[in-house]
Amino acid sequence: MSVTSRGMAARMTALALLAALTAALAPLAAASGAPALPPGAPERAPVRRLDGQAYLGANDLARLLDATKFWRPDVRKLVLRAGSHRVTLAVDNPFVVVDERTFRLPAPVRSVRGELQAPVALLDSLPRDTTIARLLYDPGRGVVMCMPLSGVVRSPQLAAGDTLTRVVFPVDHVAEVGVASRARGHFRLRFGGAFVGASPESLSPGGLVTAIAPIPVAVGCAFELAVSPAAQGFRLVRDPGSAGAGGPRSITLEVSRFRIPGLEDFAPAGPPGPRALEVIVLDPGHGGDDRGVTVEGVAEKDLTLALARVLKPELERRLHAQVVLTRDDDRGLAQDRRAETANHARADLVLALHFDGAPGTGYAGASAWCPPALVGARREAAGRNAPVLLLPWREVALRHAVRSRAVAEAVLGALELAGAGPTRLREVLPHPLLGVNAPGILLECATLTAPADRARVTGPRGLQDLATAIADGLAAWERGR
Ligand SMILES: [Zn+2]
Repeated sequence: MSVTSRGMAARMTALALLAALTAALAPLAAASGAPALPPGAPERAPVRRLDGQAYLGANDLARLLDATKFWRPDVRKLVLRAGSHRVTLAVDNPFVVVDERTFRLPAPVRSVRGELQAPVALLDSLPRDTTIARLLYDPGRGVVMCMPLSGVVRSPQLAAGDTLTRVVFPVDHVAEVGVASRARGHFRLRFGGAFVGASPESLSPGGLVTAIAPIPVAVGCAFELAVSPAAQGFRLVRDPGSAGAGGPRSITLEVSRFRIPGLEDFAPAGPPGPRALEVIVLDPGHGGDDRGVTVEGVAEKDLTLALARVLKPELERRLHAQVVLTRDDDRGLAQDRRAETANHARADLVLALHFDGAPGTGYAGASAWCPPALVGARREAAGRNAPVLLLPWREVALRHAVRSRAVAEAVLGALELAGAGPTRLREVLPHPLLGVNAPGILLECATLTAPADRARVTGPRGLQDLATAIADGLAAWERGR
């Protein structure tokens, strides 16, 4: 889609802020050569004990701080340069110099088999600004962890009353939360910070939340909850804590048994799976004179077609589906031609493939647009006959809104796991689904104006990785999860 066709105001939601923040953090997480960790786990390094003190190796310290090392053999000093800061360690010396300030450590810096070891107390002397990674010593696990700049999320606590069930997440920053999925069966919350707590050991009997677990995401953390069908709505309450620094901050999810003003609705649930996915129509966006988003010579119209060509065999092989493309060359198509192809093929699903663009550098990741499920569900509930007649044909995709939404959630979930996030779900009937009489979504697979996204999708495995993730999501939806 084009940048100008949408209001920028709508983007400035908490989720967009989260997106900007997580995008800013992604290079930090990707920079080091550490062994592979589960997605979403903070970078970490082991701590060793020397003479009863906890020590961290200088190589690990440099890796976690994303610092460059300079060794001065004449004075046996190691200088680490991280962001705008300098940390100087001297062998057998209990002082560390951070920028122009000197701190005394509880034990001297040591040299063990050629590598400097610094007492972990050093971490307390490091600056706390945004140019340097934030390190946290976890004595229980014997590791030093690199925290996202957005802080941490601690163990959630549940409390169930007669009408409300509350899930309280202690956090460092209350703004960095978003509802990634509002289906009762897999309600998902995303946080900008890393999860350093534990799942609750028990759930309140009779509560409206029947399960909660952290789920892996590329940046920050996320939780998936199961919510009782009896729940009628939810809201997020942000408690900024007491005035000044250090006050307890929390984000509380309130789930209500009754409809009360100010609550948000859960997504309507579709029929349980498995579902048939025999014919899939791929609609590569733009084409011909319509180049779509163009950034530094990369044109959206070329990427959408190239992705469709990679995705087609992937879906045929893994889902045994027949895959039809609305265009297989560089030509522009009117929307009614695209819809006609989908309807003629009797599509079980239409995927309109696009790439996003936005002014500024903070916006990144993937979005799915689907017909608004609440509108669709109301129309479905209103009766079998009249609503269809009253529905303008252009908006016939609303009849398939509930299934479309489930597809969008499944595909976004898979993209998130594949590191293509942050992801957003927008319940607005998009232009490429006008006149389409089938479940469908518009997928903005990545943001071409975000340098990291652009490098990823134009890299050697970029489109194949996207195709694999999209097929993962569709396979999960087809199985009925
Ligand atoms: Zn587009």
